[in-house]
Amino acid sequence: DSTSNFVNPDDNDKLLGGLLTSGFDEASCKSRTQFHLLRKASPHKPSPYLVSKLRNYEDLHRRCGPNTKAYHKTMMKIVRSKNHDTATMCKYVIWTAAHGLGNQMISMTATFLYAMLTDRVMLVKFEKDKLNLFCEPFLNSSWILPKNSPYWSWNKQNTEIYQTMIENDKASNSKEGLPSALFINLRFSRQNPERFFHCDHSQDLLRKVPLLILQSDQYFVPSILMNRIFNLEMIKMFPERDTVFHHLARYLFHPSNEAWEQISSYYNTHLAKADEQIGLQIRLFNPSTPKQAIMHLVLRCITKHNILPELDDLQTSTSRKNQTIKAVLVVSLYREFGDNLRSMYLNKPTVSGEVIEVYQPSNEGRQKYNDDKHNMKAWIDMYLLSLSNMLATTSLSTFGYVAQGLGNLKPWLLYRQLDNKTHSEICERDFSSEPCYHTPPRHYCNGDSMTGISSSFPYLRRCRDLYFGVKLA
Ligand code: GDP
Repeated sequence: DSTSNFVNPDDNDKLLGGLLTSGFDEASCKSRTQFHLLRKASPHKPSPYLVSKLRNYEDLHRRCGPNTKAYHKTMMKIVRSKNHDTATMCKYVIWTAAHGLGNQMISMTATFLYAMLTDRVMLVKFEKDKLNLFCEPFLNSSWILPKNSPYWSWNKQNTEIYQTMIENDKASNSKEGLPSALFINLRFSRQNPERFFHCDHSQDLLRKVPLLILQSDQYFVPSILMNRIFNLEMIKMFPERDTVFHHLARYLFHPSNEAWEQISSYYNTHLAKADEQIGLQIRLFNPSTPKQAIMHLVLRCITKHNILPELDDLQTSTSRKNQTIKAVLVVSLYREFGDNLRSMYLNKPTVSGEVIEVYQPSNEGRQKYNDDKHNMKAWIDMYLLSLSNMLATTSLSTFGYVAQGLGNLKPWLLYRQLDNKTHSEICERDFSSEPCYHTPPRHYCNGDSMTGISSSFPYLRRCRDLYFGVKLA
């Protein structure tokens, strides 16, 4: 009926200022309509241009997505026409996983931006460990790569590899023809080969390949921004430069009903009643790091910067008027951190009189792979963290990046544990909520070494937690 298209201002807020589209079946994804019950309104509104790009993308996805005529026709053509220039009606980028869930979510977000900028349909290759975490993001379609796709179990031997092509500079040798499918590896690696992904000569080549299989564990958005043509688009899409992840992650990642039930129940039972919620993410990259010493560093950071009050050891404080409640959400694989902090604040009053309650939703003990229940806990932990008023995160952790970006939070970065040679401070406030890109290009497209990131690219800065990383500011 004609009234169903009418959006009143209240509904507009619920759709994040037009970022989200209406028309989804509410029961199949409750978080999509209920998120505002837990999440504070964001001060950042999406630009009209971003909104129109998203609607255009949704149209494209509906036309070319799985189980459409166009999908079947195009895929057939791509599979059959190996090693010829192939013009197809739809183009695809298939995202494939690498590393933990945080790494995967930041790279999916970057891949989605790339898909939008290059008119490709993004399909995600989800194993069972991720199928139940998120709602479908695109109306009346699916983003999941169908199991019967020939690219589900693609073979590196049979797929051309981007890096080899770039190195052989096949781009200039167009007589040989381009492949119809190409594998791009943008993962972090110790060898760190220069990928030239930001360069026109690479993008000119990629544009002609109808199907890309992209694997990354990185938020490679800064390298997209380094490309002149993409840069012009991105400036229009994101006039507030440091909100790329914030907008796109809130667009893409809606907790599934199972995740949402646990998130909202945990939040309402433990966190909602507090005057302030503090998120503390303690990640040990090496499980043998002494936990007591880490606890000590964390405490020094949070009391020095008044994130949490000190204990009133002598119990002399007379200022008990301030009976505000601060809920601390400890997120870590190890239960010791929550237990220690809880018993500390249970046993003694604080100098400010504030009451500190400590909660830890999970303690998995170790990182597990291809495990759906484990991933569910990780997603719930990230989402709950993102609802905090203030965050302290472990530097370099992409798990923390997801939480800070979703929540539009500039976290206190807990610097490298113990071996703190690169920083004189224990922790420092970050300057933006964007994830850090850990393997940015080191060369300009002509091969010269990249110097002075900020003078070449005004919206990029070196990350606080990684001196060679870059991020949007
Ligand atoms: P990163 O390694 O810190 O950059 O973050 P990732 O998310 O990519 O990989 C770490 C993985 O370990 C997570 O995805 C979880 O599977 C697990 N993990 C690490 N820390 C936590 C935590 O605090 N809570 C939960 N539930 N899982 C965690």
